[in-house]
This record gives sequence, structure tokens and C-alpha cells, in this order.
Amino acid sequence: MRAMVLARPGTPLELRELPVPEPGPGEVLVKVRACAICRTDLHVVDGELPDPRLPLIPGHEIVGVVEARGSEAADGPGVRLEVDRRVGIPWLGWSCGECAMCRRGQENLCPRAAFTGYTRDGGYAEYALADARYAFPLPDRYDDVEAAPLLCAGLIGYRSYRMAGEADRLGLYGFGAAAHLLAQVAVHQGREVFAFTRPGDEAGQAFARSLGAVWAGGSDESPPEPLDAAIIFAPVGELVPAALEVVRPGGTVVCAGIHMSDIPSFPYRILWEERTLRSVANLTRRDATEFLEVAPQVPVTARTRTLPLAEANRGLELLRSGEVEGALVLVP
Ligand SMILES: [Zn+2]
Ligand SMILES: [Zn+2]
Repeated sequence: MRAMVLARPGTPLELRELPVPEPGPGEVLVKVRACAICRTDLHVVDGELPDPRLPLIPGHEIVGVVEARGSEAADGPGVRLEVDRRVGIPWLGWSCGECAMCRRGQENLCPRAAFTGYTRDGGYAEYALADARYAFPLPDRYDDVEAAPLLCAGLIGYRSYRMAGEADRLGLYGFGAAAHLLAQVAVHQGREVFAFTRPGDEAGQAFARSLGAVWAGGSDESPPEPLDAAIIFAPVGELVPAALEVVRPGGTVVCAGIHMSDIPSFPYRILWEERTLRSVANLTRRDATEFLEVAPQVPVTARTRTLPLAEANRGLELLRSGEVEGALVLVP
């Protein structure tokens, strides 16, 4: 199979010809039809996350079709993953099921967890393996390319959204793949969305308004009224004090990314009055099942741009430059 491989962090991915992997016990072999590019892939490739598997096939927003089952393949969440079944493979690839975090329902924080496209091979390839218990049947209303960004931008975005609480006025910093999906859920649920983009990004602000944002502006601007909560998707530490400044007393700021530049020091008064600052890490299988149920009801639609698998490096560059509206999806 063809695969885009990271040999060493900080170097471009290499197009390689590799043997199709064999599914082990409990695994399924999936023929990849689409794999979205996530900002986390950029952090992995740039070496900003510790200890990736090397060499590594990145990619954790995989849509594909089960081609073979390993011995004793366990059932997926409620559904048996038969051959020919279309499934999505997200970032959480495995968790131990035994530790205190797993038993508490926080498998996203399992210290032994394995992550697709980071500590396990991912979907920048023609085939991928998944533990059958961590792969999800996908709603029929989405085609393969549309479904791919739901698997991380959607799922982890949705977890961040839940952590923001019952916010009537919700700020989204960084209006990319995740925010453009979440804005649709928030508007559908009757909330007011305030979108913050890079200063001067008028196209991004117009895009946000077209999805129902009541206000869109630069991240250096203040919204017309204080927000109940804000989610920061951009990996920029300066946005943390900026968001705290515009959230009301008792409000919440959620950092949704896996990596962020250092947060500058800020006066205690912007955290005081019971504002909460928290992060979100990874996802649980429950987040996945919930979001995949909610998405078609809205219905959430992903703005996508496709690229051939061999152009993964160009896709990563486009994401880095911030020139992407919606989500980039690789097609083998
Ligand atoms: Zn565990
Ligand atoms: Zn991701």
C-alpha cells in the first residue's frame, strides 16, 4: 500500500510503498477512503508532542470500510463491525479499561492509552488497522469526505463544547475545522456564537457569519457583550488572557487543543469572580457516540477541500498558513 510516513519529526512526510498490515486479535483492517488533516498532525510532524511512534503514519480522522477482521475481533460500541461496514477511526485508539481513570469513565486520560496517528499508525495511507472497540459506524447522510472531519474536529470539538457548559453566549477563538462544525451545533441549540479569527481575516469572519455567528471579529477585539463561555481552538497562549477578559463572572474558558504556545502572565483580576479556566484532552468513546448522533440531527455539514494522499505535505502547509476554510481531507 502507499502511505505517507514520518521518519523523523521536523522532516517532510515520505511517500512509501509498505505491506498491507495484518489485523491482530480484536482488530479490523480498514481500507481508507478519506482521512482529514487535523492541527494535531501538524504538532506531531513538527515534533511538538513527545515520543511519537517512529516511523509513523499520521492521521486520526479516518473513514474507511472494514476489509478483514482479526481473530476474535471484539464488537464495536454496540455494533458488530462486519466486513464491508463503513467505520470512522478517531484519535483514541485504545485504552486499558482497568486503571482508575478508565474505571471512572475518563478513558481519555488513561495513562496507557494509545492514539491513532501518534502512538499507533494512522490514516495517511491506503489501509489502516483499528481496535474494533474504538471504531464507529458512521451516519449514512454523510459521504466519506464529509464524515472525515467529524472524527476529531467534531468529536473533540463537541467534548470542548460540553465542557463550556450551558453558555447562551459562546465565543469560539480560531474559526477552523472544529469551530465551524461546533458553531452549527450551538446555533441549532439556540445559542449565540461569537467568532474570533486572526485580526484582519475578513474572509474567515464572513465564513463564521454565514454559519450563523451573531458577531465575528479579530481576536484582539472585544465582543459587544460579555460571553458566558469561550473555547480556544487556536494554539496561541495569548488568547487565554484575551478570552478571560471577555468572559463574564462565573464564566468558563476551555482550551481545546493538545498544544499551545506559552500563556503570558496575566492579572489575577481577570480570573477572579469564579471564572474557570480548563483544558480538554482527547476523547472518550461516549463523546464519539453522542456527537455522531447529534451531528445528523442539526445537521452539521463540513466545509471540505480534498487533496490526493501524496500531497499530505502541502495540506499540512496550508493548515499551518491558516489559509483553509473548513477542513482539509486526504483521499488515497
Ligand atoms: Zn486505563
Ligand atoms: Zn485531531
